[in-house]
Amino acid sequence: DAALLLFRDDLRLSDHPALTAAVQAGHRLTCAFILDPDAPYPPGGARKWWLHHALAALSEQVADLGGQLVLRHGTSFDELTRLRDETGAKHIYWSRRYTPDEVAADTTLKADLTAQGCTVHSHPGRYLLEPWRVTTKSGTPFKVFSPFWRACREDIRATGLGDPLPTPKKINFGAHLPSVPLDEVDLLPTAPNWAKGFEPLWQPGEAGAWARLDAFLEEGAQGYAKGRDFPAEPHTSRLSPYLQSGNISPRQVWAALDRAEHLGQMSGRDAEKFRAELGWRDFAAYLLFHNRDFEDCEFQPKFRDFPWRYDKDDLTAWQKGQTGYPIVDAGMRELWQTGYMHNRVRMVVASFLVKHLRIDWRAGRDWFWDTLVDGDLASNAASWQWVAGCGADAAPYFRVFNPMTQAEKFDPNGDYIRKYVPEIAGLPDKYLAAPWTAPDDVLEDAGVVLGDTYPAPMVDHATARKAALDAFEGLSAGA
Ligand code: FAD
Repeated sequence: DAALLLFRDDLRLSDHPALTAAVQAGHRLTCAFILDPDAPYPPGGARKWWLHHALAALSEQVADLGGQLVLRHGTSFDELTRLRDETGAKHIYWSRRYTPDEVAADTTLKADLTAQGCTVHSHPGRYLLEPWRVTTKSGTPFKVFSPFWRACREDIRATGLGDPLPTPKKINFGAHLPSVPLDEVDLLPTAPNWAKGFEPLWQPGEAGAWARLDAFLEEGAQGYAKGRDFPAEPHTSRLSPYLQSGNISPRQVWAALDRAEHLGQMSGRDAEKFRAELGWRDFAAYLLFHNRDFEDCEFQPKFRDFPWRYDKDDLTAWQKGQTGYPIVDAGMRELWQTGYMHNRVRMVVASFLVKHLRIDWRAGRDWFWDTLVDGDLASNAASWQWVAGCGADAAPYFRVFNPMTQAEKFDPNGDYIRKYVPEIAGLPDKYLAAPWTAPDDVLEDAGVVLGDTYPAPMVDHATARKAALDAFEGLSAGA
């Protein structure tokens, strides 16, 4: 009999448990993607760009197998009902989603479809482990990463993750149906096309994910544990947007790490560090699954009264990479130009916003959400809360990243800064992290006029640091 497979943030054909189950059940299958205007957390601009291209790639893959990816625009319930009427499907397959509003939406959708006589089959695939899988000894959810990850590691050692599933060889597809042309759903930016810089860097879709993984294993995996902190080096995988839209599954990445370790492409230490990063991804989703306000509300209640500043001009200077602190500006421009920012630099720019400028972390979260190709509700909120000091297992509030020492330590030759802040590229290495410390003749030789060709620092580091610590102490005293 007929069935529907609803794609969402699982845009791939291999290691797709819902797809494999539908094929194994022998259904005549219709594959669909619904652009739902009522979906919780609509994607930001950069992720819409990704979605457009990932959908184009998936459509081609499905067509190569003789089928069709049907694209519809409307609420999930209406469109699924329509598709059910058109195909006669009695079964609907999908991959589970885990953010609180998505869980609620899917629960309602499942109940409504069941009431119409459909059976909904939901499958895992987005994370290494389902978020209800590990708990503390007393049965409560973990709040701290290390014991969480120890428990996950033990679980995985004991039961394994199972082998990644291959792409089904043969799918019995249903008849072709009307489908909205991808170009008509306005996922791409129009004038100005701010995504020009994305194109040489990313190939959204399943083939692109594997090409990226292979390139990383070749060029950057060896030395990952140490090298991952250096933004100018190729030691980070850049797999995050592929994982975010499900172009590759974490289980597939895990299996590739096992293989790479076995082949000596990656040391045990490097592979284990990478596995732990996948663990952070799971942990963020776990925290949000168990704490429904986590995305929007400080995990530690005492921070809920923090006297955040609101200053539109300061926020804009940060967003545009015009703070006068080169490492911060380089990061913010990398984000704008490529839809991505290196993790070390994300921490530095986030700390600058919430500590140096004392602007609400939610303003930074929102900007990231709109501009990151890997924008993820759970990882984004968890990371912002971690930097702000208000999250579960967070960096202590008094840890204020020093943008100069961070730049000197992690971009020692200035390659990263020179790439994204070319107007100061002519400065000698020793002044790149803090151009205002350069003597006048050095600035002149490099063609730098502070306040003109490049901004003077928008705040003084020592003063801003002290103001942040004072605000925090006031909070502790009042708590
Ligand atoms: P790699 O070092 O190659 O790591 C491999 C994978 O592990 C990543 O692809 C990612 O899926 C996962 N991972 C690595 N670090 C983290 C982490 N700290 N938290 C959760 N997962 C991690 N990551 C997102 O995917 N989406 C976001 O919206 C996001 N927002 C962030 C906001 C801030 C303020 C900060 C400090 C970090 C944020 N991160 C986010 C986490 C991290 O910066 C990115 O996952 C990482 O930089 C992606 O690059 P990569 O794939 O090269 O990482």
